[in-house]
Amino acid sequence: MLKKRKIGKVLKMVSRVIPVAPFDLVIFGGTGDLARRKILPGLFRRYCAGQIGNQTHIIGAARNGMDSAEYQEFVRKAIAEFDDDEGCDMGKLDDFLGLMSYVTLDARGDTGWNTLAGMLTSDRIRAFYFSVGPGLFGDLATRLHKHDMARSDSRIVVEKPFGRDLQSARALNKVLAEHFDETQIYRIDHYLGKETVQNLMAVRFGNMLFEPLWNSQYVDHIQITVAESVGVGTRGGYYDKSGAMRDMVQNHLMQLLCLIAMEPPAKFDPDAVRDEKLKVIRALDPVEMDEIVRGQYQGDATHPSYRDQVEDHESTTETFVALRAHISNWRWSGTPFYLRTGKRLRTRASEIAVVFKDAPHSIFEEDDRHHSNILTIRLQPNEGIELGVTIKEPGPGGMRLIDVPLDMTFAEALGPDKADFPDAYERLIMDVIRGNQTLFMRGDEVEAAWAWTDPIIAQWQESEAAPLGYASGSSGPDDALMLMHRDGRRWREIKP
Ligand code: NAD
Repeated sequence: MLKKRKIGKVLKMVSRVIPVAPFDLVIFGGTGDLARRKILPGLFRRYCAGQIGNQTHIIGAARNGMDSAEYQEFVRKAIAEFDDDEGCDMGKLDDFLGLMSYVTLDARGDTGWNTLAGMLTSDRIRAFYFSVGPGLFGDLATRLHKHDMARSDSRIVVEKPFGRDLQSARALNKVLAEHFDETQIYRIDHYLGKETVQNLMAVRFGNMLFEPLWNSQYVDHIQITVAESVGVGTRGGYYDKSGAMRDMVQNHLMQLLCLIAMEPPAKFDPDAVRDEKLKVIRALDPVEMDEIVRGQYQGDATHPSYRDQVEDHESTTETFVALRAHISNWRWSGTPFYLRTGKRLRTRASEIAVVFKDAPHSIFEEDDRHHSNILTIRLQPNEGIELGVTIKEPGPGGMRLIDVPLDMTFAEALGPDKADFPDAYERLIMDVIRGNQTLFMRGDEVEAAWAWTDPIIAQWQESEAAPLGYASGSSGPDDALMLMHRDGRRWREIKP
């Protein structure tokens, strides 16, 4: 299998880089983990690719006391540590660092704000990336307004989590709306920036082949799996207040579900796409308690248990969720959607599998097995799309049938390599600058997703039942397997 970098190298060969106009980007939380690991290396890669020009100004803003020269050294180290792109010319790093400034600033006080206002250029796109804890999103919006930096063409980028329930998401939407129009708010779900996720739309709506079959008449069920092999690590403090339902299902898995299930939008424009996604969320039935399984990983000789990694050693926060969802509309009535996500599972693997129904009748007497076509969209690793088809087993032994994959791994389809595969953050930040909101969540979408999630969490809290333990490196609790076995189906293996 080809690695991510290699796949990327292919894509660059076929994609044109269209430079964006010079812009000012302020990264609130510019010294944080996300900035170091994703935002800054991503910006450097876009600079290397020629998409960001030398007129651009990138300003780190955080509480840490440092000057611009020190920040440039900070960025240099972050890129050395987290940029794994061999295609990037490191000779360009000094030029890139020349685009960087820094301001010490307190989101909750008045320090630094006038300095920041003085650093911005008056006649260009300005974007403010809220890469800070969610408790500060409202403060930042308010202070940007107070210090006259919120113009009608300013954009704000808001990180996850967007609220922890419907009420808090509504409150956050309200405070942002006081200072920014919805067209200026870019709520990030980095899953939407993944190349394969966008390809999912291309495959569905760019081909005649799939769409006629894309309904409950032909699709038996759909599985969405986002499996992580790591545990909570140092994020235990945050995670224990959140859990897999809030951290993964409400946002990432929900977004994937929407893209798989939505009706074709009339055009590929932000509101047309998001209108269709919203209709899917609103058509979701409430989940019954016997349709959902929550788990928590246990420890073994080499790995600590979840409870060992968080402060509350009696914690009942789930690190695994599997559920069966139903979409009550004409297209999907009768086709269940099985969603599964968890930490410390067998391997890191994310995929969507569209499992078609068996052929209604077999004409081959020698063959008594079931054969169903499966369209698999792999998000990680080895992004690509695979279609399982049934063919005759080669040889003279009669009409014996076997299932083989028609592999559409991008690298293989597009030819050998040479460049870089844009990380989701790279793509999304450039969309912000271009003013394209298609791959960002709209406020009403987020609220609808919470409205569906909240009753599930409320029922768990009422029942006070602890999540089921599962072994590190497994596929989750056995009850999750039973969830599908009861329906005469089974999960696809979680494999690299
Ligand atoms: P972090 O704790 O590593 O960094 C927080 C940043 O905010 C620091 O730069 C800090 O100086 C700054 N900050 C804190 N209080 C401030 C204040 N009062 N005024 C000004 N600046 C202040 O956090 P992180 O991991 O970088 O996460 C940032 C945001 O991104 C969070 O909303 C998080 O949920 C989200 N996020 C992070 C990741 C990740 O991988 N780290 C992934 C997805 C989403």
